[in-house]
Amino acid sequence: MGKSHHMNFTKDVSLAPYTTFKIGGPAEFFYEAGTIEEIVESVSQARALDLPVTLLGGGTNILIGDKGIRGLVIKNNTGAITIRGMKASYRSGKKVGSVYVEADSGVLFNKLVRFTVDEGLGGLEAHLGLPGTVGGAIYMNSKWTKAASKDAAQGIVTQNNRRRYFGTLPMPTSYVGDAVYQATILTPQNETKIVDRTFFRFAYDTSAIQKTGDIVLQVVFALTPGEKDGLWKVANHSIAYRRVSQPQGVKSSGCTFRNLSPAEAISVSSPNQTTSAGFLVDHAGLKGLKIGDAQISPVHANFIVNNGHASARDVVELIELARRKVKEQFGIELVEEIVRVGEF
Ligand SMILES: Cc1cc2nc3c(=O)[nH]c(=O)nc-3n(C[C@H](O)[C@H](O)[C@H](O)COP(=O)(O)OP(=O)(O)OC[C@H]3O[C@@H](n4cnc5c(N)ncnc54)[C@H](O)[C@@H]3O)c2cc1C
Repeated sequence: MGKSHHMNFTKDVSLAPYTTFKIGGPAEFFYEAGTIEEIVESVSQARALDLPVTLLGGGTNILIGDKGIRGLVIKNNTGAITIRGMKASYRSGKKVGSVYVEADSGVLFNKLVRFTVDEGLGGLEAHLGLPGTVGGAIYMNSKWTKAASKDAAQGIVTQNNRRRYFGTLPMPTSYVGDAVYQATILTPQNETKIVDRTFFRFAYDTSAIQKTGDIVLQVVFALTPGEKDGLWKVANHSIAYRRVSQPQGVKSSGCTFRNLSPAEAISVSSPNQTTSAGFLVDHAGLKGLKIGDAQISPVHANFIVNNGHASARDVVELIELARRKVKEQFGIELVEEIVRVGEF
C-alpha cells in the first residue's frame, strides 16, 4: 500500500439515492472508492479516527434508518474482473477443469455473469438479473432458482404457465457461495487476508462475515468451461422467470423475509408444504396493505415497495405488523432478509 495521504470524506451525504428502496438518512462521512487500495486506505483512516465503517454495494438489500449512518460509509465502485488461470482437478473420480475468475467486490453481479457466460464459463449463469455487487452477494450468499425443466430453460415461462413448470414445490436453488474459490478480506484489525470458501460457512442467506465484520475486497470464483449457448439459455431463463415472479420497476429492497426452513414448512398446513414467506404474508391477508407510502406489494407479498416518500419507520411498521399477523395465524416467526443499517 502506498504512503497514506488524507482522503476526501464528504460530510452529511443523503444515502437514499444510493439504495433501490430510495429510503434512508445521511452518512456522517461518505467516500466513493474506485480501487481496492482506496477501500483499504479509507477504512484504515476512518478506524484511526475511531469512526465505524459501513460498506455499501448496490444498496439493493438494505433498509437504512431515517437518522442515517454514523461514521464512514464507503460506496464501493471498484470494478475489475480478471481471468486468473486454469487448473485441472478431480470431482467424483472425473477429471474436470476449473477456470479462476477474480472480481473486485464492487463489480456489479450482472456484469460478472455476462462476462463469464460470454467466456463460456459455467457456475454463475443462473444469477443473471441479480441486482447489486459481488461484495453484497457474498455477504448475503444471494441465491436463485435453477432452471426447473428443459422447456423452462428455453426461456418460455409466462405468468400463465409458470405453475405448470414450477408448481408450489420448493425449487432447486443455486447460491452465489457455491462458486466461490477464495477471497481477499480486510479484517476488523485492518489485516488483509486470503481465505478459502469454507471460511464463509455459506448457508441460506448466511455467510460468516455477517458476524465477523470482515470486509470483502476481492473474490475468486472457480468456474467450469461449458457451452456458451447453453449457458445463455439458462441465464435468459432466469431473467424471464424474474420478470413474471418479481414486481418490476418499483422501489424496493427485494424479499423482505427469509423463506421457511423445511421443518417450519411442515408445521404449516399449506399446499405442498411451501417454504414461501410470501405465501404466509399473502394468506394472512396483508397483500397490498399500506402504511404511509410503504406497501406490501400487490404482486409479490414478500416485497415491500416505496410508493413515493416512504420512511424507514413506515417500512419497519409494516414489517412488524406482518411478523405479528403471521405469528398469530401460523405460529411462524418470520426472519428478515433485508438488512437494517444505521439509526432508526
Ligand atoms: C428487485 C430485486 C430483486 C432481488 N432478487 C434477489 C434474488 O433473486 N436473490 C437474492 O438472494 N437476493 C435478491 N435481492 C436482494 C439483493 O439484490 C442481493 O442480496 C444482493 O446480492 C445484495 O448486494 P448489494 O451489493 O446491493 O448489497 P447491499 O444492499 O449494498 O449490502 C447488503 C449488506 O452487505 C454488506 N456489504 C456490501 N458489500 C460488502 C463488502 N464488500 N464487504 C462486506 N460487506 C459488504 C453491506 O454492508 C450490507 O450489510 C433482490 C433485490 C431487489 C431490489
